[in-house]
Amino acid sequence: MVDIPNRPAPKPRARVQAMKEYHPPLGSRDSLRLDFNENTVACSPAVRDVLSGISAGDLTRYPERESVEAQVARNLELNPEQVILTNGVDEAIHVLFQAFLEEGNELLLPVPTYTMYEVYASSTDAQIVTVQAAKDFKFPYQALLEAITPQTKVIALANPNSPTGSIIRRDQIIAIAERAPHAIVLLDEAYFHFYGETAIDLLASLSNLVIARTFSKAYGVAGLRVGILAASAENARWMRRVISPYSVNSVALACIPAALADRAYLDRYVEEVLAARTEFEAALDALSIRRWPSEANFILVHIGGKHREFVQAMNAGGVLVRDRSNDPGCAGCVRITIGTREQMRRAAMVLNNVVSHMREAKEAEA
Ligand code: PMP
Repeated sequence: MVDIPNRPAPKPRARVQAMKEYHPPLGSRDSLRLDFNENTVACSPAVRDVLSGISAGDLTRYPERESVEAQVARNLELNPEQVILTNGVDEAIHVLFQAFLEEGNELLLPVPTYTMYEVYASSTDAQIVTVQAAKDFKFPYQALLEAITPQTKVIALANPNSPTGSIIRRDQIIAIAERAPHAIVLLDEAYFHFYGETAIDLLASLSNLVIARTFSKAYGVAGLRVGILAASAENARWMRRVISPYSVNSVALACIPAALADRAYLDRYVEEVLAARTEFEAALDALSIRRWPSEANFILVHIGGKHREFVQAMNAGGVLVRDRSNDPGCAGCVRITIGTREQMRRAAMVLNNVVSHMREAKEAEA
């Protein structure tokens, strides 16, 4: 045996060394998962049919995304060169930041918002500039406009936003894109189906706008990992240089046309969630739990100092919810995904018990 001296391993870039590891919580199989904003039922049966027809031969070949991209483009009334399929919106964010952010640039981020913008920006050499929303969690429009500088290179906006459920008005999106023509405005429409308003038509007139969509939420195929980047043909060309040509696998690609075709399934699911949201809001109000208005398939609620105990007790009752207390401005807040009415009635029952117990315990303490 050769005697190889044990030398210290090379270290990654300083920015990477400074990053925290991101570990999403694990879910127990039997629980009602209201902690990831997923579809809580299933995808369209048409997608399952495609899955069951996948052969070994289909798996031997490298995936080819072009024809599916063309179908997605048609569905969005865009040209094929304007659409890139990605490994979820997460990869879309990563690819956009890799293509556009460099040293000396600023990423402008209203907070609280989706965690992965900060994670992916942290691995670039750009600075992250955050704009805190007020206590009402409305989109901090004026403060964001004022925070635009000549160094602003990307502005990342989720519409509707997570974890708050708040929205950005169309005139505000236009004004931001016009105020920062030197920056890419990433408008993340992951929860579009629950809100119903899109800015995708603005791609024709705003050359700095990029829109992201996902199949992970309303479509119910988060496990397949498929997202969409929609942009001007020019911006799409830059991002295609950065993305792996094979990051969307062939099983996922095979399923997308079926998912797109079953509009009725999608509409039914969205309608069900919206009805469940209204009912669940009433349940929260009856318990005097503070909540923020939401245009998405989740609601942010204020639980207070006992948020950890609350999440644990809900979990013990078979309902997983997400503690968002560590998000900026969100002390004591918990996010609850909205599923079907039947699921949310079950969730409301558990919620009732948990809150009553916590209030009784508090009274006993006093
Ligand atoms: N954007 C937002 C605002 C989200 O909340 C999420 C999912 N939690 C994503 C993007 C990620 O979507 P995907 O599963 O397509 O990566």
